[in-house]
Amino acid sequence: MKEEKNIITVNNLHKTYPGEVPLHVLKGVSFSVKEGEFVAVMGRSGSGKSTLLHQLSLLDNPDEGEIIVENKELTTLNEKEKAKYRLQSFGYVFQEYALLPEFTAIEAVSLPLILQHHSMKESRERAKEMLKLVQLEDRLDHFPSEMSGGEQQRVAVARALVNNPKILFADEPCANLDSETSKVILDLFKKLNKELGQTIILVTHEPEDEKYVDRVIHMKDGILL
Ligand code: ADP
Ligand code: MG
Repeated sequence: MKEEKNIITVNNLHKTYPGEVPLHVLKGVSFSVKEGEFVAVMGRSGSGKSTLLHQLSLLDNPDEGEIIVENKELTTLNEKEKAKYRLQSFGYVFQEYALLPEFTAIEAVSLPLILQHHSMKESRERAKEMLKLVQLEDRLDHFPSEMSGGEQQRVAVARALVNNPKILFADEPCANLDSETSKVILDLFKKLNKELGQTIILVTHEPEDEKYVDRVIHMKDGILL
């Protein structure tokens, strides 16, 4: 059963990239996502999807507007508070996996917990559980160079989930994968959403991905349609 509570509400978000010709990319974006919802943000390349995701997930600072997660307004946090919030409350998956080459799968997934001062033993146990969840229990000690793209992305998903995030943010997570592997990743997201009630905000430009999600938010020229 899905609850009807909003987990995130965005009000009138604006973002302009400075420069000789400043680029007004977000022009007043407002929407909410409910707890346990799986939402896709779709739109053409350059429409501002990544910019929107970066503001929502505290990786960048909007010029104007509010981001409210569980009744807490996040844009007023200072940089240190934002860093802590990201580590404790959000999970991230990017197109290029963002795995460090010198860490094995289990090390990569343990790291967010170790950074939050959990013991090595507890962190590794939890990491192992997460790698099992993404069906990589037989790749624990593999380095990124020893895994396929799909496997690396599943490590990234396990890493994103290890701190039990309020929201999982994914920016074109399948853009580097073939269609069969993309399906594995999107099926995994669907399973995490259905079985764990994980709230997911997925950016994609692939109209076909619509079938996996509860709702699509369409972006065009910096506004939601
Ligand atoms: P999308 O993810 O939908 O492809 P983006 O949010 O990445 O779109 O980009 C929206 C627009 O903002 C594009 O025109 C892009 O070139 C520009 N842009 C993105 N990031 C920056 C940046 N850091 N500085 C300046 N312009 C940027
Ligand atoms: Mg993008």
